[in-house]
Amino acid sequence: MIEILNPAQLPQARETGALVGDILQSLKSRSVVGTNLQDINRWAQSMIVEAGALSCYVDYAPSFGRGPFGHYICTSVNDAVLHGRPYDYTLVDGDLLTLDLAISKGGIVADSAISYIVGDSRPSESTALIEATERALDAGIAAARPGARIGDISHAIGTILHEAGYSINVEFGGHGVGSTMHQDPHVANTGRPGRGYTLRPGLLLALEPWVMADTAQLVTDADGWTLRSATGCRTAHSEHTIAITDDGAEILTLSKRPAA
Ligand code: MG
Ligand code: MG
Repeated sequence: MIEILNPAQLPQARETGALVGDILQSLKSRSVVGTNLQDINRWAQSMIVEAGALSCYVDYAPSFGRGPFGHYICTSVNDAVLHGRPYDYTLVDGDLLTLDLAISKGGIVADSAISYIVGDSRPSESTALIEATERALDAGIAAARPGARIGDISHAIGTILHEAGYSINVEFGGHGVGSTMHQDPHVANTGRPGRGYTLRPGLLLALEPWVMADTAQLVTDADGWTLRSATGCRTAHSEHTIAITDDGAEILTLSKRPAA
């Protein structure tokens, strides 16, 4: 089912989106060399609870994961790219960390992910991965407007990632958002323009390009959740929730806080 928000629901979507953006920005500024992934999870939990929001992750138990996720945020480090389950690991300089957060407030969900390098070093491969997913996300958002097709977004994202030299895995991608986290339509990170569902005002989409440096193949960690690159190479992931408006697309999950 594809859910279209009515205009009266948009303020709530904006509030949930800004909350996700703010929590991610706050977690980014606190997650430094020496931070344990379990601390990030605890901070996320307290910020979600304090805001009167609900985690979309704690009880999430889809077919591709092993039982409920049981945590408040995904923390994917280096070769981990999606669904990284927080565990007892302390961040070191040069780690490539992806934080992915989805919460519900007032009945509307927002979903966003950021990748960044912990500490002061800037390994060029990691920088390139992050930059490619951010540019692909920008291109996907630019392609999202009323009357455009899902394939136009997929094509825009895929073109950037391919030109940057990455192969694309289509097992996981973007998705509709609304009263629940994962809805139709699916937004693959590559595709043909002019195909698929026609966008209309009130549709919320989570767009989420992600790449792995030298492979398109994932392996599942022993924890039953964390997805890693099959070769052990580094990975990156950028995600925003957007609302299709009469004029184009509005990014809902930008932080209102000053950048870390
Ligand atoms: Mg997400
Ligand atoms: Mg998502």
